[in-house]
Amino acid sequence: MNTLDVTIVGGGIIGICSALSLQDRGINVRLIDRESPGQTTSFGNAGVISPWSIIPQSKPGLLKTIPKMMFSGWKPLSIRAGIWSSMIPWGLKFLSKGTEVGVRQTADAMSLLCTPSIELYRKHLKNTGDEGLVKDTAYLQLIKHAEDASLDDIASQIRLKKGANIEIIKGSALRSLEPALSSTFEAGIVIYNTARTISPGRLGAVLAKKAQSQGAKIIKDQINEIRRDGDNWFLKGKVSKYNTKLLVIAAGAWSKELLSSIGVRVPLIAERGYHIHCANPGIDVINSVVYSEGGVIASSMEGGVRIAGQVEFGPIDASPDPKRELRLKGIARKIFPDISLTKTKFWMGRRPSFPDSIPVIGTVPKQPGLFVNFGHSHHGLMMAPKSGEVLANTLVQNPINEDVSSISIKRFMN
Ligand SMILES: Cc1cc2nc3c(=O)[nH]c(=O)nc-3n(C[C@H](O)[C@H](O)[C@H](O)COP(=O)(O)OP(=O)(O)OC[C@H]3O[C@@H](n4cnc5c(N)ncnc54)[C@H](O)[C@@H]3O)c2cc1C
Repeated sequence: MNTLDVTIVGGGIIGICSALSLQDRGINVRLIDRESPGQTTSFGNAGVISPWSIIPQSKPGLLKTIPKMMFSGWKPLSIRAGIWSSMIPWGLKFLSKGTEVGVRQTADAMSLLCTPSIELYRKHLKNTGDEGLVKDTAYLQLIKHAEDASLDDIASQIRLKKGANIEIIKGSALRSLEPALSSTFEAGIVIYNTARTISPGRLGAVLAKKAQSQGAKIIKDQINEIRRDGDNWFLKGKVSKYNTKLLVIAAGAWSKELLSSIGVRVPLIAERGYHIHCANPGIDVINSVVYSEGGVIASSMEGGVRIAGQVEFGPIDASPDPKRELRLKGIARKIFPDISLTKTKFWMGRRPSFPDSIPVIGTVPKQPGLFVNFGHSHHGLMMAPKSGEVLANTLVQNPINEDVSSISIKRFMN
């Protein structure tokens, strides 16, 4: 059996970008995934790549909106029976982070990972022939009543302070930015200088192929156990066994289970989300369009329009909730009255989420040769390239000019 320099378990967008950053530093990579790379959670997201998506889910005032999100309107939030006991401690920690001070601190940590995302994706895509997979676009948040449009909220204030170009638009300006939009929306907040991918699944596949063409060994296997074996890590797969000195766990929402076999425990949950992908929609969506009441982002992708988002806390392996498909179709019609929904595909994925909305990247105390890169919740696509850079710099012990203490796993290991 070959012992390659680094083995990564998990070939989602995080594992793939980690592989590319390690290769940039001259390291050989073996990437193991039970599926094709980039085709699990990283396949079905909303495609947003933005330096300004730096506001955590937990914000001041969130608590009083939860009953509405769960029980009325489009019900963008649900909690399945049977997981309340694990949800309560996670939820309390999550809510405790939603103070003004907490949000500002989290935004700083998120900025570190989101700010260079567009530039780094373009670097990774260079000379692949698929540079068009990432497009410049705006991020448009819809507002029903024009008088409610304001930039005084904490999210806009943080973004403005960090240099974002944001404006409120109304009436005909809104209509010309996004022609297919329903006239029931009177205003929008536009964040400029953002991007999106027109195919998250193909982006992952193209970048994995690039890593492979640069020498990465991509292996299809399900890792069932990791354990220490002398100076090495031993991995027991369904198909084969592997030894490695340096191991990276980047298995998204499943990382918790893999680490628990060596006694490393983290408060990670599977925050499930959904999409419908409408082939032949009959309309075009120019920007990333956010409809907060429905908890979704809509955009045109390769092969149609995708409406993606919503939050369902539930067991990682529970089957998708079919009611969500009807709800997403209703939301699609609400935003774009002329959309055709005759050919739609329904999908569910699992965001790997920590209560503080920040991933864990880097070494693990008392576990020599073990590195982690997971927990990117709602922002894994846009955080992936920089997360790969931070991981690779840590692994090769490059001096880092940035404070990465906020993204260390140590915060959960007191
Ligand atoms: C509806 C929705 C919309 C979203 N929209 C956006 C967005 O617009 N922008 C954004 O930045 N983020 C978005 N996200 C979040 C983003 O998709 C995730 O944060 C990201 O995909 C996580 O990537 P990952 O590589 O950590 O996980 P995954 O993509 O889940 O990859 C983990 C991989 O590990 C493999 N694996 C797991 N366990 C094992 C094992 N034991 N052995 C072998 N392989 C294993 C899996 O097969 C999988 O391929 C969205 C998420 C959802 C659900």
